[in-house]
Amino acid sequence: MAPDETRTDTGVTRSRMPAALSRIVSPLLDLLFPPLCHCCRAFIPEPGEVRLCPSCREGALPIEGPLCSCCGRPFATPGGMDHLCGDCTLSPPPFVAARSALRYEKSTRELIHSFKYGYKVMLRRPLGLLAAPHLDHFVAGFGADLILPVPLHVKRLRQRGFNQALLVAEIFSRRWGIPLSRTDLRRTRWTEPQVTLSAAERAENVRGAFSLAKPAELAGKRVLLVDDVYTTGSTVKECSRVLREGGAVTAVLTLARGVD
Ligand SMILES: [Zn+2]
Ligand SMILES: [Zn+2]
Repeated sequence: MAPDETRTDTGVTRSRMPAALSRIVSPLLDLLFPPLCHCCRAFIPEPGEVRLCPSCREGALPIEGPLCSCCGRPFATPGGMDHLCGDCTLSPPPFVAARSALRYEKSTRELIHSFKYGYKVMLRRPLGLLAAPHLDHFVAGFGADLILPVPLHVKRLRQRGFNQALLVAEIFSRRWGIPLSRTDLRRTRWTEPQVTLSAAERAENVRGAFSLAKPAELAGKRVLLVDDVYTTGSTVKECSRVLREGGAVTAVLTLARGVD
C-alpha cells in the first residue's frame, strides 16, 4: 500500500483519487464502512488522518519535559531544565540520547498492544502520525545519516510475520527523508521474551544478541535506532553498544516509553 493511502478497518483502500470522484465515493464508503475509532471502536463523524475519537486522542499523552537529557526519562516534577538522571550519571548509556514521543499508557498502550500482539499492522500509521510531531525537533537537531530498526530474530519474525520496529522506522524514514537500512544491524542470537524479566535479567538476556553486517559501512555515521517501546532500554542499549563498537553514533527513537 502506498504511504499516502488510508485503509478502513474492513480493508477498503482510499487512495488519492481525484477530488470530484472522492466527493462521490467517500460518503458511500463511510456508509458501507462507517469510520470507527482505532482504539475504542466508537463512530467518529470526522475521523481525520489519525482516526481516533476525541477521548482516545486525549489519552495519547506526550512525554513532556523536563527530561533526562540522555535517556529521555521524564522527571516527575514539572518545570525546570532537562538534566542527567541518576542512572545516566552513574552508568552512561552507549547512545547519545533516547527520545520517546508518547507515554506508554491509556490509548497509546492499547494501540501499540493491538499493533504488536493483535497483528493490526495498519495501526502503524496512526501511531506514526501521533508520535512523529513530538520527535521532529529532536531529529532535526541530531542530523542522522541513517535509520535502523531494532531487528527481530528470524524465528520471531516467522512467528509474528512482521517486525513492528521496521514498520515504524519506514514511516519515520519517509517523514524525515532519512535512508533506512533493514540489514546493517542483525539479531544473531535467539533471546527469550523480555516481558517477565527484571532490568538486570533483560540486560543479560540480550547481551551478544546483535551484530553488524558490514561494520565498515557504519563507521562515522549518525544513526537513529527505532523501536516501538522503551522500557528498561536494555535492547536499545545493547544495539547501541554494537553500533558504537562499529564507530557509529546512535540516538534512539521510540513511539512510547514506560513511565514510573
Ligand atoms: Zn476512541
Ligand atoms: Zn537518564
